[in-house]
Parts: sequence; structure tokens; C-alpha cells
Amino acid sequence: MTVNVVLPLPLDQAYTYRVPEALVGAAQAGARVLVPFRNRRLTGIIVGEGPAAETLDFDVKAVLDVLDDVPVCTEGLLDLTKWIADYYVCPWGEALKAVLPAGTTVETEHRLTRTDAAPDAWADHEVGRTVLEDLAAHGETTLAAVRKRVGPAVPLALIRRMAADDVVAVETTLSDERVAPKTETHLRFAPAFQHKDAPDDLIEQLRGNKQRAVVRALAGFRAEGTPEPRRTDVMERADASYSTVRSLVEKGMLELVEKEVMRSPLDDLPAPDPPPDHDLLPAQQDALDAVTDAVDVHRYGTFLLHGITGSGKTEVYIRALQAVRARGRTGIILVPEIALTPQTVQRFRAHFGDEIAVLHSQMNMGERYDAWRRLRTGEAAIAIGPRSAVLAPLEDLGLIVVDEEHEASYKQFDPAPRYHARDVAVMRAHRADAVCILGSATPSLESTMNARWGKYERLELPERVPDASGKTAALPDVRVLDLALQRKKHQLDGALADPLREAIRTRVDRGEQTILLQNRRGYAPVLECEDCGWAPECQSCSVSLTLHRHDGGEQLRCHYCGYAARVPRQCPECGGRDIHQIGTGTQRVEAELEEVVPDATILRMDRDTTREKHGHHDLLRRFENGADILLGTQMIAKGLDFSRVTLVGVVDADVGLLFPDFRAEERTFQLLTQVAGRAGRTRELAGEVILQTRNPDHMALRYAQEHDYEGFAEEALAERRELGYPPFGHVATVEFRGPDEDRVERLAENWTEQLRQHAGPAGVMGPEPAFIQRVKKQHRYRTLLKVRGGSPGPLQTALRRTRDAHGAPPNGYHVAVDVDTQDVL
Ligand code: ADP
Ligand code: ZN
Ligand code: ZN
Repeated sequence: MTVNVVLPLPLDQAYTYRVPEALVGAAQAGARVLVPFRNRRLTGIIVGEGPAAETLDFDVKAVLDVLDDVPVCTEGLLDLTKWIADYYVCPWGEALKAVLPAGTTVETEHRLTRTDAAPDAWADHEVGRTVLEDLAAHGETTLAAVRKRVGPAVPLALIRRMAADDVVAVETTLSDERVAPKTETHLRFAPAFQHKDAPDDLIEQLRGNKQRAVVRALAGFRAEGTPEPRRTDVMERADASYSTVRSLVEKGMLELVEKEVMRSPLDDLPAPDPPPDHDLLPAQQDALDAVTDAVDVHRYGTFLLHGITGSGKTEVYIRALQAVRARGRTGIILVPEIALTPQTVQRFRAHFGDEIAVLHSQMNMGERYDAWRRLRTGEAAIAIGPRSAVLAPLEDLGLIVVDEEHEASYKQFDPAPRYHARDVAVMRAHRADAVCILGSATPSLESTMNARWGKYERLELPERVPDASGKTAALPDVRVLDLALQRKKHQLDGALADPLREAIRTRVDRGEQTILLQNRRGYAPVLECEDCGWAPECQSCSVSLTLHRHDGGEQLRCHYCGYAARVPRQCPECGGRDIHQIGTGTQRVEAELEEVVPDATILRMDRDTTREKHGHHDLLRRFENGADILLGTQMIAKGLDFSRVTLVGVVDADVGLLFPDFRAEERTFQLLTQVAGRAGRTRELAGEVILQTRNPDHMALRYAQEHDYEGFAEEALAERRELGYPPFGHVATVEFRGPDEDRVERLAENWTEQLRQHAGPAGVMGPEPAFIQRVKKQHRYRTLLKVRGGSPGPLQTALRRTRDAHGAPPNGYHVAVDVDTQDVL
């Protein structure tokens, strides 16, 4: 018997190996195998049975071992990864790697022990006997160690058979990065100060205000039922530093306690009680019926569920998933990473409890491996997670939901395969005779067009869900503030024009909440010398450095590589001292707000304030608990639902609008609509949205102002059709990267020339320096391919042929092929 094995190499082919007698039962499709390749031993995956050995005219090498009892890759995923490899023009081995849990690309470790059972038949088995003798001599050991001592020819399959006879015990773990428990420091009163009056006594004794504040904060937590809060929470509430806490610990008044952090807090929260069932609205019921009809007859179908935030989409996902589970089938829920909050997960857990496995990017390898294994063994039947969850190892799939299907974060870039999770979801559902639901308030133009063409079925939820008294929250009023006009009227001094300032002021006074979007972090994006125009740039990237303020100091930072520099006092070019800060980042808006509404609690949410694992979640919780203003980058546009938000302000609606990317206006429209949807979610409090712009007549703003998705789609689609851009065509890019600019350019030119030869009806544009020409000392060039019509075939053919002709780029240089590019810059 032979098998075809795909190796994790940039080679687009499978290799045939002979299966030795001892491994025949174990060598199933999808299982990992150890095979000799050139002078190495590699781990590959069996993708199917090979031709009979006699028919081959070369000497077939033998598989050394089969590494899995249960194949890591299901048959369905083998087939899907083949499609991914073909469609996104990447080697099958790379696509397969994407479905393996992080832990399995590291070697798994098998720990062996001899049991008390008599060796029975194994006494006569030559290798078996040697293994038993070795175990008797060495006690608990690993298979790798046994192989080292006894010789390499100890297949795992043999050990498994011995384990089945109970003569050895096997435990499989990850060899690398075993999950070490993570701890956090908590704080409590020392035993002598735990009685009720101790805090008051301490406060009397202590001189320092900060120390008193810490004691007071800790007593406060205790009174709230948390006698051992996190140290950082106490510091924050007391506005005190660690040194204050330390001095109290040194005085013997407080104690530090290390506590283990839960492995996956999203998973480990107890499942809440299921909410009472409510009747679906007619539109929800119609949508659900359409979906369950398809599920009932095991028919593939993709449904585009178009409904504004709060229209009851999630409710439909849940009911559809219930229908699928009732039929014993499994499901996948995809959400954008940032929307994967405990609140989202808890909502599903209320209905499905422990059937859910959560996958997210901040999990460590052990956590991910555990979640993966629960899905693979069928212990969990529902995967919920960001884009990679579309590759979850589920069998008998009934439903895939892609929430916020228009999100750009569904496209993978590095490492390959550069797949679009929405499109893979549709393809996976198709192959599994399952149903796919794409949900959005602002569907991508691709999906809207696919619905018009009849490839998807369109379902509408036209209204927000009304409250118990039957009232429906109205859509918020949207006001556009023309910044040029505001300046003329002397109503603009800083980033916030007077009408926006007043609106914020009113909300703070009334105890209502405000969300402010500024899609740029830091203080000021650019510094510029007034005299000569010099602006500081990163050493390694061709971008200007952003001014950041922190702890009273200032620093210049590169947002691409993290490089940091001091702020120059004078211009290094001309010696001038007038260095101006240009543009506005979230920090600068925050500083302005502190002046405009000094009494307000302001929370800033951007990448700088959410670096820690729960930073994002903690900020949302604090906002929910009543802070006045949530200010941030596009992160704030998604996720939670806040009932007291009556004002949404967009500080600069033009950020991103003028990028030379054909999706720029679609993205802007989506972001503005999304953030506007955060206002006025309750029926009692009307919402208002204020957009500040220098392009008040831009179509993206006009339609966002009118809440007019159809109008936007009509106009944008007409333009796309004329230019042959998606959905009326396909684009692909090839990015060339490397340390030496000339060599990158030459590489790009050679490739592009060949692409032109193979392009057929496709257009090839470039190569050109990328929009940001240099990142982390790597020069970047780009070539764009474009073809009209429904099939990306000509692009794929040109890319495949060129890649095969070129082979791997020189060491240190990279060629990234990206089909259906989301970011053409
Ligand atoms: P979306 O996912 O479109 O934002 P949700 O499904 O979250 O909308 O619904 C918005 C709110 O309305 C949620 O609090 C949800 O529990 C509630 N809801 C949804 N459908 C109904 C219904 N048929 N009856 C009563 N409440 C509903
Ligand atoms: Zn200068
Ligand atoms: Zn940089």
C-alpha cells in the first residue's frame, strides 16, 4: 500500500510513500506521518491513497511513522484546503498548516509507562519485548527517549497496540510550551488588619494621602464583596502607584497574593441561564424559516441577512443554530476579532452551554489545542471565533454564520494561505450541504451583488426590535458639520467644533453617554518644521513618526515597527525651533475633552490602551458602568450595546476616505454607519450623530447621513462596474519584499514581465513601489492584476505559472501572492 503525502513546503505537489505492514491500519487520510525527504525527516499529512507500488518506476521510500490515532485533518478539511490552495494560489502544504492546531506543528510528546500486566504475547515480539525491557529499566519516559535508546524503528502504532493490550500506558501531551499557569497579583489586608474597623484605624495612623487612598480603595472593594481585588484595580481606584502599595506591604499592613488566572476566561465563565424565549418578529420568523427549510432538506444555501444593528440578527443566528443542533449537526459562528467579547460568547453560551468551544487569537497554544481537541473529538459541536474558526475541525456541519460579513479582518494576510474567511465559509457550507448566513448592517458590495445575481438569498430585517410596549427606537439624526465653514465662523478651535462641544457638554450634564470616533491613535500624526518643512520619519519605514504623550513625557513612535525616538527641540535640517504638531490623534482629542468637559469621565480605547489581554473588555465594562465618554479608534464601532449613549461624534470622517484604494469609500460608509448605529439604542432616549468633515458632499457621507444603504450601493456599484472592479471582476496583488531596493525592484520586474506573458484577458499593472514603500527596513513593490467577469481563473493561472517558473525567491526576499486582495495599497 502507498499513500500520497503533502509536506509543509512551498512545493505544490504530493509525494508517494510506501506504508510498512505495521502501520497499515493507522495510515488514514488526514493523519500526520513522519517521512524521509532528501536528507531530512519531515512531518507531512496523508492526503489520500497512492498508486500501487509496482506501477511506479522509482524506488518508493517508506513512511517512518504515523503520528496520530485520530487523523488531525478531517476528510472535509482535506478537500477544503485543496480548494483554498487552488483558489488562493498557495501550496497545499501551506493551506493544510492553517487547519492544524498550533500545538501539532510542534511535536506532540508521548509519555510511556510500563503497567503491571504480564507481557503476554509481547514477550515474543522482538521490538515489543525490547520496549518493555527499556521501560522496566527507565520507569516513566518518552517515546523519543525510547527510540534514542532502542533504535528509531519503534512506531507509535506499535505502542498503541501494546497500550490496547494494557502492557504500557500512553499519555500524549504537547512537548513544547506546556501551558504554565499564569498568575496575577492581588491585594488584601494582612491578617492583623482584617477586622472591621481596621481600615479606619489605618487611615488614622497613615500620613500619606496616597497610602490612605489605597486603604480606602481596598476597604471599598471588600465592602463590595471582593476582599482580594487585583492589585492594579486597587491602584487605579486609588490613583496610586505601585510604590505606594509596596510601602504598605512593607509596613505589614497589606499582603500581596498571587492568583492563578483562568486559562480561557471566555470559556470558564459559568453559562448564564437561558433568557426567556420571545416570539420572533415576522421578519425574523421569515428569515429563520428560509434557513431551516434548507437545513431540513440538507440543502446548501447562502443567505445574506441584511439588518441594522439591533434588528435581531443574532437572535436569528441562535434559532438557526438550535435547529441545526436539534438535527444533530454542528455549527461555526464567525465574528470579527474585536467583537469576540465575553458578552457575545455568553449570549451563545446561555443557549448552548458547554457545546461551545471558543477560539481566539489571544489564546496561548495550550488553550487553542484544548479547544481544537474538544471540537475534533466531538465533545464540542459549536466553534465560535474570528476568521480561522472557519477551519474548525467539525464534522457533519450544518451551519456557518459570518457576522459582520463586510469586515476586512476576515481576510488573512500573513502567513499564507491568504484566504477570505467569508468566501471559505460559503465554499465550506457548499461542500458540506450546509447553510451559510452572512449577516451585516452594511453588506459588502460583493455580497449585495451576489444576492442580486441569485447566488445568495437575501433576507431583510428592516427595523430595530421594539421594546415591550411595542415602541421601536428611531434611527438617530445625523448632522454633518463642515469644518471649513466652522472655521470661517470662528467655531473651530482645536479638533472639536463648537456645536460638537456643546452637544457633548449637554450629554455630560444630563448623565447620558457619548461615543467619539477618531480613527488615529497617538497625539499628533505629524511633526513639521515651520521653516523648512522637515518632518521626522522612521529610520526603517517610509512613514512619519507619530507624537505620543505619556506620563507627562513625549515621544515619537512608528506605528509600523514600534521604533521610538525623542522629540527634537530644534529642526535637524535648518535649526529652526518652530516645530508644529499637525493632525489629531486620540490622545489629542482626549486632552481637548479634558478642557471642554473637565468633570467628565473619559475612557480612551485604542491600540495603546488595549494592549493587555483584557484591556478592551475592561474598558467596555467601565463604560457600561457609567463613564461619560468613550473615545477611540474604529475599535469602538463594534461590540457592545450601551443603552445610555445618545450622542455619537466622528471627529474626522475623512480619515481613510481619500486613500487611493477602490474600497476607500465603501469602508468609510460602513464605518460611519456602524458607529452611528451605536447611538439611541433605547426607545426613551433619542440619538444624535455628528460627523465632522472637510468633504461634506462626499457620497459616502451623504448616504451615511440618510441611513441609505441602497442608495450607496447603487452609486458605488455603478462605479465598480464601469472600472471592472469587484464584484464585476477580481483583483489580485503580488507584493515583493526584501532588504535591498534594487534587488526587490528587479525581482518585481521579472515576475511582472512573466505575469504579463501569462495574463490572457487579465490586466497587469506595475510593478510600483507600495503605498508605504519601506516597512521595517524592507522595501516593498507591488503589482496589481485585474480581470473583468465572474471568474478569477485568468489571474490564478497567470500567478501559478509565474510562481512555478520562478520558484522560491532568494533568501531574505518574499513574494506574497494575494488573490481577492482587500488592501490594494
Ligand atoms: P443584532 O444582532 O441585529 O444587533 P440582536 O439579535 O442582538 O440584534 O437583537 C437586539 C436586541 O433585541 C437584543 O437585546 C435581543 O435580545 C432583542 N431581541 C431580538 N429579537 C427579539 C424578539 N423577537 N423579541 C424581543 N426581543 C428581541
Ligand atoms: Zn527646518
Ligand atoms: Zn518604523
